[in-house]
Amino acid sequence: MLIRLLVLATLLVLVGRIVRLLVRTPPLRKQESPPPSLVQDPVCGLYIEPQTAKESIEQEGKRIYFCSSSCARQFKTGRGVLTSGPSDRTEG
Ligand SMILES: [Zn+2]
Repeated sequence: MLIRLLVLATLLVLVGRIVRLLVRTPPLRKQESPPPSLVQDPVCGLYIEPQTAKESIEQEGKRIYFCSSSCARQFKTGRGVLTSGPSDRTEG
């Protein structure tokens, strides 16, 4: 009868292990990094990252980013943005 008890004990241990494994399984959640917030260049319509923007100006408390200095220039000359800093002459 001792063997029966031993078998029962091992069974209990095994069941305990299985339950523990089932409980301990960590949730495998894939961490996805959020997409980088892109901003649109209002001149050419290109979507760019603010960090990689060549130029940026502030207009009405809002920051506008440009993919290139030529786009920024076009925007400035086209819409008459308040330019603060060195006087830029219009050269043609
Ligand atoms: Zn552009």
